[in-house]
Amino acid sequence: MSKQIVQERMLIGGKWEERGKTIEVHDPGTGEVIATVPSASIHDVDHAIERAKEGAKISANLPVHERMKILRGAADWIEHRQHLFATTISQEGSKTIREARKEVTRCIETLRISAEEARRIEGEMIPFSQMPGHERRIGYVYRFPVGVVAAITPFNDPLNLVAHKIGPAIASGNAVIVKPATLTPLSALRLAEAFEKAGLPDKILSVITGYGSEVCDPLITHKDVRFISFTGGYETGQSIIRKAGVKKVGMELGSNSPTIVLEDANVEEAVDSTVSGAFGVAGQNCLSVQRLYIQASIYSTFLKQFVQKTKQLKVGNKALETTDVGPMISIKEAKRVEKWIQEAAVSGAEIVTGGKREGTFIQPTILTKVPESAMIAKEEVFGPVVIIEPVETLDDAIERANNVDYGLQAGIFTADLEHAFEAIHRLEVGGVMVNDSSDVRIDAMPFGGIKGSGLGREGIRYAIEEMTEQRVVAIQLNKK
Ligand code: NAP
Repeated sequence: MSKQIVQERMLIGGKWEERGKTIEVHDPGTGEVIATVPSASIHDVDHAIERAKEGAKISANLPVHERMKILRGAADWIEHRQHLFATTISQEGSKTIREARKEVTRCIETLRISAEEARRIEGEMIPFSQMPGHERRIGYVYRFPVGVVAAITPFNDPLNLVAHKIGPAIASGNAVIVKPATLTPLSALRLAEAFEKAGLPDKILSVITGYGSEVCDPLITHKDVRFISFTGGYETGQSIIRKAGVKKVGMELGSNSPTIVLEDANVEEAVDSTVSGAFGVAGQNCLSVQRLYIQASIYSTFLKQFVQKTKQLKVGNKALETTDVGPMISIKEAKRVEKWIQEAAVSGAEIVTGGKREGTFIQPTILTKVPESAMIAKEEVFGPVVIIEPVETLDDAIERANNVDYGLQAGIFTADLEHAFEAIHRLEVGGVMVNDSSDVRIDAMPFGGIKGSGLGREGIRYAIEEMTEQRVVAIQLNKK
């Protein structure tokens, strides 16, 4: 018996809407169609913006305790339906069921932190009397919501990365229009339901399903959309910035993160952490360990252990508890990664293990001797591929780590504080993880990159800063 295909609706300012034209959502592991979503038009986006303008006024006037109640309510709703949320993430995306469960837990945390941060949107006093002639002025700074936030999100964390935009937007009194990735729109729709059930007033939230290249222009260019919060690839980010004009933009883009392992490190711990950092979510993670620089004296020991551990990973059916590595998000992406591996091999790289593709599945792949000019060394591979190279010194490692156009996070394993601080100061990234791989994030930390990895920071409190404007107030007291 064939499975029932669910016809999902999108949310426009409080109304769940269908459209005649739909888009199929596939399970990338099996290719099976699991649902359809409406294919939105530009008019739908325009309509959502008009509703959001009204929603922004409602949101700004919601007392903080109401915002907190809604955010906590949405978190509780998800907590009571963890299985549904985890299966949705795993079916529509690349994550194994174990990886999907972790994302659900993090989403609940993101919403609860958002509720907490709502009460901490504070201003500060400005001592005007520092300037002669201003002795009788009292000054302070308020933070006000920007109004309408556009949130454009990627496929790889289809629930929690959407929560990282809706949570702070509601905490800070904004309306928000989400355009989730077309490959993985279902988790965002489930999240919108959670907010509806938690009592979020109509018009504050819309989730529009449709192809980004067709429907996002009004979201990007409309003068009343005051902040664009984008997470996705560099090329898309750049095209958004070019069109956006004078408005705030937050860009959470990709990377090809390095991790350095020095000879005084605990090799076993470094192997465990970097194997997981390289191959988790089949490498489709902005923090994935893509380049490993290992001090030459421990290179062969490290490589041997790394290969051994990599070969133990079970690739396959996402629904099984025993699976470690799921599929790539699409056949197109799997073929791209395969091509990059082959091109690297032609230019002199050695494939230590892996390198093979079967449908959307790519075997966890280890490369060495990769020329720095190869695409796979310069760009973000976003697949289960890691490059492992020997380096003589920390200086060499830092130089090679920095020799790319990205800078999200980096890791360094060392027992020597001097070395750790050297790396902290010289690595060109938004975060340095010591005795960890690049793949470390908690939802409350400031998160974002430098260079081609983006602009601004997420991490609830920091996203709230981006989603609010400062307004300075000066009150002149009676002149004596
Ligand atoms: P993507 O192709 O750039 O898509 C991201 C979003 O942009 C999707 O919703 C997409 O819609 C939309 N979009 C596509 N074309 C657009 C256009 N012309 N104008 C406006 N929006 C457009 O990225 P992805 O492949 O989904 O995600 C992978 C990337 O995200 C990687 O580079 C990864 O590193 C990055 N990422 C960064 C972070 C971070 O926090 N730094 C976190 C996770 C992922 P459609 O789906 O309809 O095309």
